[in-house]
Amino acid sequence: MNRMHGVIRTYAWGSRTAIADFTGREVPAEHPEAELWLGAHPGDPAVVVTDTGEWSLLDLVRSEPDKQLGAAVRDRFGDVLPFLVKVLAADEPLSLQAHPSSAQAVEGFEREDRLGIPLLSPERNYRDRSHKPEILIALGPFEALAGFRPVEQSVALMRALNVADLDPYIALLIGQPPADGLRALFTTWITAPQPGLDALVPAVLDGAIGYLRSGATEFLPEAKTLLELGERYPGDAGVLAALLLNRVRLEPGEAIALPAGNLHSYLRGVGLEVMANSDNVLRGGLTPKHVDVAELLRVLDFAPVTPADLCPQARREGCESIYPSPAPEFAVSVFDLDGEFLGCEVEAPSRHDGPQILVCAAGTVEVRCPSATLELRRGESVWAPADDGPVRLRANEPAKLFRVTPGL
Ligand SMILES: [Zn+2]
Repeated sequence: MNRMHGVIRTYAWGSRTAIADFTGREVPAEHPEAELWLGAHPGDPAVVVTDTGEWSLLDLVRSEPDKQLGAAVRDRFGDVLPFLVKVLAADEPLSLQAHPSSAQAVEGFEREDRLGIPLLSPERNYRDRSHKPEILIALGPFEALAGFRPVEQSVALMRALNVADLDPYIALLIGQPPADGLRALFTTWITAPQPGLDALVPAVLDGAIGYLRSGATEFLPEAKTLLELGERYPGDAGVLAALLLNRVRLEPGEAIALPAGNLHSYLRGVGLEVMANSDNVLRGGLTPKHVDVAELLRVLDFAPVTPADLCPQARREGCESIYPSPAPEFAVSVFDLDGEFLGCEVEAPSRHDGPQILVCAAGTVEVRCPSATLELRRGESVWAPADDGPVRLRANEPAKLFRVTPGL
């Protein structure tokens, strides 16, 4: 078992305070810090502190896969850590995006290879052959747009904004089965010529302003989100997507799981995000990065969902809350060491023989395995290789420890 240091990514939408505060550094940070990567992704592998010095987790896994990953994980996923853990801190909305299924990722990767698009080119959509299911567990209040909401709710929102320009689009949406209507309308908007968007988006924003001034409250968060997106990305079709997507608000400990094809945009907040070890993102707007609308439309799932469909409920076993995982590559749980569990040693049973990443999110936790005992404070993490076996935990003050392992 070894201490592990994540790598910070400084995207413009990040926070100058959240990750710095989480990891106990000076606030505000020099740059907006968007993501802390804790994993063995070749893009930014974490650093593991061993007796023989500091190692990239990627090199460590490659050099002794049997010890680090264990035979069962190697059999299932090959000699790679199948998941990536991130602490994500968004002060501004992220791009409107979706992720491919496994079959789409393989096909897309090979197609872009055949077309000769270099792997590191900004034009490249598929950087690996893996799907990228993800789950995010809120560390504070967290807001997102995710999944097409039931059509009648979107119609009610558009009617509440009272924008005459939306009438033909409402007719398009309700004139056919829900998924077909959503496909037709979203495709129309996301492929609309810019002059059309330059008229429609401001009309919708005027509608949102009028709605807020009216004192109505039913769609207050939706109207505010429209204005926030419109101010940041004027004339962007992605603003209109906010008319069609669920606006989800998570409280700390609540989770959202995003299956392949789910259209989403994280709006604001801090969370622990776990995903398959992939970088495959198809963007449709709300970003200065590469957007590929045609490819996004190929992978999108237009079947309406509700927040309850997307937000899995954790199952409690002792002090461990286990989140249902959307993918076999990972399983996430959190140990709440509090109340009756304070001061005593708690076994964190392994459900398989794979490696574990532990991230302390509050308090101080003593983590023990046969080879080592480490004290983890908030923001600190450890890598427990497969051959360390189960770990034991103890906290003398209320503490919270996330655990990520390969899934069952
Ligand atoms: Zn995503």
